[in-house]
Amino acid sequence: MRCMMCESISLTHICTSCQKKHLTPTIYKRKLQNSIDVISFYKYTDIKKLLLSKHTNLGYYMFHILAQNSFKRFADEFVFDTKLASIAIDDNIKSGYSHTAILNKHLNSRYIKPLYNKLIAKNTISYSGKSKEFRVKNKRDFITKSIAQKELILVDDIITTGETLTQAIDTLHKQNKEVLFCLTLSDMQNK
Ligand SMILES: [Zn+2]
Repeated sequence: MRCMMCESISLTHICTSCQKKHLTPTIYKRKLQNSIDVISFYKYTDIKKLLLSKHTNLGYYMFHILAQNSFKRFADEFVFDTKLASIAIDDNIKSGYSHTAILNKHLNSRYIKPLYNKLIAKNTISYSGKSKEFRVKNKRDFITKSIAQKELILVDDIITTGETLTQAIDTLHKQNKEVLFCLTLSDMQNK
């Protein structure tokens, strides 16, 4: 096959030299209104093309490669005093795989235990391209399944207005859970 980034012959969808050159993560932080940090790893324009593949057959491979380079590295270096649980937004399977479940799976490490299908949006209306007002008016209406751990990490693929993460955190707070921080691949405001 050919590398999706440089088009040279490659054994993987993105060749090792492109992974090194373009997918070495940086830690970017943004604070939500509730003052919880959202950590992201890439500038949006740097991985935009790869993120768009999430609706194609290639998406599964792309998210694995992105997660290996960012979420997995983060988890391998992450140290905490107890084992935390990580849960992902929208990790219910729609078309064969969930891209946020792939990111979450790569957090599996000494101090992080990924949990699946714990946070479900009753309102599945698309927020794509919609304003913050629209998102506030049409809440996702999250419900949670039982989670043993009190302290959590929240996972999503991208952050745009921050409204989805904020709504998810509100729901978890009502269940007496504490969200320590959120992890996303990219912040759309970070171009
Ligand atoms: Zn390449």
